[in-house]
Amino acid sequence: MARIQYQYNAETCRYEPWRLKGKARWRRYATYFSASLTLALAAYYGYVLNVGSIDEIILQERNHALKVQWQVLENRTRKATAELQQLIEKDDHNYRVILDAEPLQPSERQAGVGGSIKLDKEVLGDFPVVLNSYSAVQNLKHQLDVEVQSYDKLKAMVNEKLEAWSSRPAIQPISNKQLDQLHLTYGSRFHPIFHKYIDHKGLDFSAPSGTPIYATGDGKVIMAYTSSSYGNVVYINHHYNFETRYAHMSAFAVKVGDVVKRGQVIGYVGSTGNSVAAHLHYEVLFKGEHVNPINFFQRDLSNKEYQKLIEIGSRQDRPLD
Ligand SMILES: [Zn+2]
Repeated sequence: MARIQYQYNAETCRYEPWRLKGKARWRRYATYFSASLTLALAAYYGYVLNVGSIDEIILQERNHALKVQWQVLENRTRKATAELQQLIEKDDHNYRVILDAEPLQPSERQAGVGGSIKLDKEVLGDFPVVLNSYSAVQNLKHQLDVEVQSYDKLKAMVNEKLEAWSSRPAIQPISNKQLDQLHLTYGSRFHPIFHKYIDHKGLDFSAPSGTPIYATGDGKVIMAYTSSSYGNVVYINHHYNFETRYAHMSAFAVKVGDVVKRGQVIGYVGSTGNSVAAHLHYEVLFKGEHVNPINFFQRDLSNKEYQKLIEIGSRQDRPLD
């Protein structure tokens, strides 16, 4: 129900109902309409400008999620780069020092870095943050490739060192915990059978007949035969120019062509050939030349034990062969 307005009439001295009529009435309606339209437009643009459409809201949310993921990627890249630097430090200053190898030069590590970045700049030039991160990942990948190759080389070096080490005649050929079975020094001595001074090019270990004899390094049996002087003798060829010989054995435990490991039983102590008592005559050759086997025994001995071995080995006891 429309609200009724009243106006004071001076002639009748009364308040009487009053209504706009004609143009005034239409002007009032026009004013209301204009004000309503203005408010509606203002509300619409305010909504569009400040709130945005549903699509824009979704895009904004996706954009935010992408920024978060990008930040995570950047953090991971930084962490991976720091960890890689630690590996490079260990590579250059630990492993290569231990393996007696030169550290990689910076130029070797940087070779090829940035090669594909130029191409990417054409595509990513408008997005410097993306380009920087992309470059960081590219550099990381390159350094990682270089480091993987370097570690492969280190692994090969380690295997080579291990093979060289396992090939060295580094243990005693018979169990000799008390170190008192070493009988004669390396060098010239009066031969008990030929009764004259002859160079003794090995070490003798006195032991009961049948005592096991061990290969002193990894290698391959190249001879296992009976000699008039050596008796039953085994020759083992090791890598890296080493050869060992085990003479006067009572029996063989290997044959020619066998591949043996350090510590493997290859025969048993005896007194065959030119020998006056059960013992092992043991020789080491390097590049075809005889060397004193005592110099290779450090591996299973303490310094004190090694000194005792040298002292015993220097005694001129009664020769056995
Ligand atoms: Zn001997």
